[in-house]
Amino acid sequence: MNLIAKRIRGMQDLLPVKSKEWETLEKIMKEEAEVYGFKLIRTPVLEQTELFERSVGNESDIVEKEMYTFKDKGDRSVTLRPEGTAGALRAVLENGLNNSPMPLKLMYISSCYRYEKPQSGRYREFFQFGLEVFGAPSPLADAELICLAKSILDRLTIKDLSLEINSIGCKECRKKYNEAIIKYFKENEENLCETCQKRLEKNPMRILDCKEKSCINISKNAPVILDYLCEDCEAHFGAVKRYLDVMNIKYTVNSKIVRGLDYYSKTVFEFVCELESEKITICGGGRYDGLSKIMGGPELSAIGLGMGMERILAVMEKQKIEFQKPESIQIFIANADEKSKEKAFELCEIMRKSSIMAECNICERNLKSQMKYANKINVQFVLIIGEEEVQTKMANLKDMASGKEIQISLEEDFIKDFLNAQFNFE
Ligand code: ATP
Ligand code: MG
Repeated sequence: MNLIAKRIRGMQDLLPVKSKEWETLEKIMKEEAEVYGFKLIRTPVLEQTELFERSVGNESDIVEKEMYTFKDKGDRSVTLRPEGTAGALRAVLENGLNNSPMPLKLMYISSCYRYEKPQSGRYREFFQFGLEVFGAPSPLADAELICLAKSILDRLTIKDLSLEINSIGCKECRKKYNEAIIKYFKENEENLCETCQKRLEKNPMRILDCKEKSCINISKNAPVILDYLCEDCEAHFGAVKRYLDVMNIKYTVNSKIVRGLDYYSKTVFEFVCELESEKITICGGGRYDGLSKIMGGPELSAIGLGMGMERILAVMEKQKIEFQKPESIQIFIANADEKSKEKAFELCEIMRKSSIMAECNICERNLKSQMKYANKINVQFVLIIGEEEVQTKMANLKDMASGKEIQISLEEDFIKDFLNAQFNFE
């Protein structure tokens, strides 16, 4: 085939079998979050570029090199959202939802766009399930959000999962900590990768997040943020850990977790899945109490998380966790001749109005080909309508698995007879 255009690199088509899995996954996530009081929000895929520059942070990987930014026809710089939090908070502030009774709990499933090198688990278009809780500065909110994430992942029966938590303190703690790590990394500067040498000036904590071997090695003995927490941040982190203990949720404290985005403060966490000795982050989140002010809004405490949908599905596939298969068509209503075509179509519509998955002969095949087609699509029942059936208003319902036939009425009792017949075949 010589197609005039192909799919864009790093983006995926979601075909019917997979999309049924997505639907199930989305349903489970939404159901769990609803129990915790979350409501759905949808925001535009395009935002003004400044929104991400200011919130995600100019020195983050995302803003530095991963954004799909372009000029629209009005010469305004716009960006395809690389993550969901900034847009969600913008929508909250712009629509005055910050004046509603707190806490405000929002969820979304959004496509995100990042110009990254495509590889397994890393796409240029991917989907995030996001949860954001506004107006609850208490560590209880942190623990509650982590409980919810855990119950979603548990319901999906994902195995070999661990929760890693850390606190990256507030501005004050980070000021002191940054001085200490700048001093430490300066002494080892020549062994840092090029990117990290630049980070040393602008955002030294991100060095801890670097995946280069040499940087990982140097980071091992770097000063630890937890030793620099102020009283308030330390108490907050202590409480989060206590609440998780009470809820019997196991975690490890990993002082290297700083998260990729600049807007976090205090609690940060990741759910990591170990798969064939590789560690895959499937969920990441944290507190971002300062972001509202940065965006020009009032003080508004916030905590949120993002789950990578593709990564969760990839892990489930590797762990052989199965979703139910897409349902096959229940009944095919065949027409034996040209004259019965309309009656078959009409009966098919009656079936659908009763939520029965029915198909009729819209490809206008002859009867033999219709039967072949019905076999191919694995339909449970076939009803053949011909001249005689139209006249007698009775027809034979065939159970495709057993080959047995039962006569049903085509009049008022049509649906009732069909439903009863299903039991009689068993
Ligand atoms: P990583 O360190 O893997 O690049 P990140 O810190 O950039 O992750 P976040 O910005 O926290 O990731 O995004 C939240 C979640 O979205 C991640 O935990 C991951 O599951 C998923 N994710 C991030 N980038 C991609 C991508 N390019 N393709 C698919 N999923 C992604
Ligand atoms: Mg990334």
